[in-house]
Amino acid sequence: MSTDVTKPPTEDLNPYHIGREQIDLALPYLDRMKHGLIEFLKTPIRTISVCFPVEMDDGTVKNFTGFRVLHSRVRGPGKGGIRYHPDVTVDEVRALAGWMTWKCALAGVPFGGAKGGIVCNTKEMSQGELRRVTRRFISDLGDSIGPNTDIPAPDLYTNAQTMAWIYDTYAIMHPGRNNLPVVTGKPLEIGGSLGRNEATARGCLFATQRALQLGVVEGLTSLENATVVVQGFGNAGSIAASLFREQGSRILAISDSSGGIFSADGLDIQAAIDFKRENGSVVGLPGTETITNAQLLVLKCDILIPAALENQICIDNAETINAKLVCEAANGPTTPAADQILCGKGIPVIPDILANSGGVTVSYFEWVQNIENQQWDEEHVNGKLERKMNKAVDAVIHRWKELKENPKSPEYWDSDRVPCMDMRTAALVVAIERVADVALDRGIWP
Ligand code: NAD
Repeated sequence: MSTDVTKPPTEDLNPYHIGREQIDLALPYLDRMKHGLIEFLKTPIRTISVCFPVEMDDGTVKNFTGFRVLHSRVRGPGKGGIRYHPDVTVDEVRALAGWMTWKCALAGVPFGGAKGGIVCNTKEMSQGELRRVTRRFISDLGDSIGPNTDIPAPDLYTNAQTMAWIYDTYAIMHPGRNNLPVVTGKPLEIGGSLGRNEATARGCLFATQRALQLGVVEGLTSLENATVVVQGFGNAGSIAASLFREQGSRILAISDSSGGIFSADGLDIQAAIDFKRENGSVVGLPGTETITNAQLLVLKCDILIPAALENQICIDNAETINAKLVCEAANGPTTPAADQILCGKGIPVIPDILANSGGVTVSYFEWVQNIENQQWDEEHVNGKLERKMNKAVDAVIHRWKELKENPKSPEYWDSDRVPCMDMRTAALVVAIERVADVALDRGIWP
């Protein structure tokens, strides 16, 4: 995914290269890792590219390109969303599939990592066109996806309706069996889970609360009266804004692809949701000041939540980020160079593979409910989610503190290691070890 930045990039913004670089940064802290195993864990095991025609409403025929990448199935079937966006590239999907592998490992759900995408602009397409594109893509993927092989979910510009079409298409291709677990994020009446729609944002909330309780930000231990800025006002961003507001935070600014809005007194999030539903954007909400996405990112606040695209916090703006904590609801919003700059400024980042893992965690709950033909109540789902998020955050922060504060610990330290200062690297260390351990326990085949 390209960024908003229009001038020539001053760093490599290819998400696949970034994903590999992040692993390289974690390598010094990984003991007993064989070179070949590392390369295996850095590389997707399968990349499918399909090109297909679809008849548009005006009678013309348009060709679409779609990708489905399976990064790893070491810990279970592939799992990952499908996004629809004009800037989708195979390298972006590869990167996102890799991040899914690490996310599932951190969340402790028995899945590998996968991701999909179609190059298209949903804003210019009718519901009928979207349905035909979805059905044709799923039909062309054939048995590459399946309840026990690779399980899609929603992502950017796809939603429960898209998942219903995916389920229906797959079910028509595989009659006479329970196909509900082939996809998650479905509508409630078609096997969806209570709490799934809110899960990514709720997971961000739980992760932030836990991190604050564990002292990640000096002097900030709860969300009560915290100031919050959210970039992106879709599933992850709009629900995060609502949930943080419910906890007593003041939401200073929000944005979508058309721009942002700001109010020093705090925004009325429900009014913004209603306004966006009617007008297509949050921009213009009465009583607010219009700002750009670039201005929004550098606002002074306690917590900055990027919930839109990749590479939003990069070498060009990292120095000017004025938050006490960054919680990555989006995948890949911070570049490695920006990570270093934020680290130098003492701004901790709860990394995407941890912060937004609530989505895949409740997707796992949906998959289990589908297999059992059950529907759990929402309290049960949210309670289980909170326990899983807390466990994941505890594991990462524990390891982060160890790698940062006890450089002499014989277990994690040798003379050529420097203290690991960022939470992303610590999270990757935990995740990569979990995947590598299973790979070695299973044994390299043949
Ligand atoms: P969505 O399609 O529901 O919403 C995306 C939002 O981003 C929209 O408000 C859109 O206007 C805004 N946006 C698009 N381009 C923008 C730009 N250039 N500047 C500012 N805002 C822009 O998507 P979503 O599901 O909320 O996904 C958002 C991010 O969260 C993605 O990175 C996605 O991978 C990640 N994520 C989503 C889930 C999930 O369950 N939906 C789970 C984990 C991670």
